[in-house]
Amino acid sequence: MKRFCFDLDGTVYRGKLGIPTAVEFIHHLQAEGNEPFFVTNNSSKTPEQLQQALAAIDIQAKREHIYSSALTTAKYVAKNYGTAKVQVIGSEGIRHALEAEGIIVSEENEVDVLVMGIDRSIGYARIADACLTVQRGAKLIGTNEDIRFPSEEGFLPGNGSFVRMVANVCGVEPLFIGKPSPVMLEMIAEEHGLVRDELVMVGDNYDTDILCGINFGCTTVHVNTGVTPMEIVKGKPTQPTYVVEDLSQLPHLE
Ligand SMILES: [Mg+2]
Repeated sequence: MKRFCFDLDGTVYRGKLGIPTAVEFIHHLQAEGNEPFFVTNNSSKTPEQLQQALAAIDIQAKREHIYSSALTTAKYVAKNYGTAKVQVIGSEGIRHALEAEGIIVSEENEVDVLVMGIDRSIGYARIADACLTVQRGAKLIGTNEDIRFPSEEGFLPGNGSFVRMVANVCGVEPLFIGKPSPVMLEMIAEEHGLVRDELVMVGDNYDTDILCGINFGCTTVHVNTGVTPMEIVKGKPTQPTYVVEDLSQLPHLE
């Protein structure tokens, strides 16, 4: 039985609106007892808040099946920089995740690691401070490198836009944890005792979702309901396993 990992923005919902074909597909899986996973680069919400966002479009998701880049970043930092001084830019999602992993967030000028997740109220002064922190030697880690994400009205700047801004000023290459890094899928496989062949990564963004699945080595499904238009995907040298208009067109996968 294939186990599905769904991206959220542009795949399951757009803004606060559910994508009907995706909601129907997920209901069908759950009716068969095939509980899906949700894999998002959104670091601003806690898994509980993501669970509520899904409930608002009539999807009841299991808390332990929701993987965010914030949760994964926190686990990565705890594992690789457990005793380091960590400064953080971002909202509740990333702060909550770091604290849950026992990481003490420092407001000092000199730290070992600067973690950046999206902060929708960020201003020039905070970005300038971040640039100085990195120039003093902090390792720059971004929860995810999404340059933009879709909303009801159009594309908005994603975390990658801000992290790249800091990296460009400092002349450093940031480390990103979210998709297209395969770390979130590796964690799902490890924590749920699944193997590569069993997982299917479904997403709207070729450069994050599809490359994440390709990097991990599992089946991939591109849906034409969000960021990357189907024509662009069809021109890529490495193709997803399936390219569909929406999930109503996906053949049954054994
Ligand atoms: Mg998406």
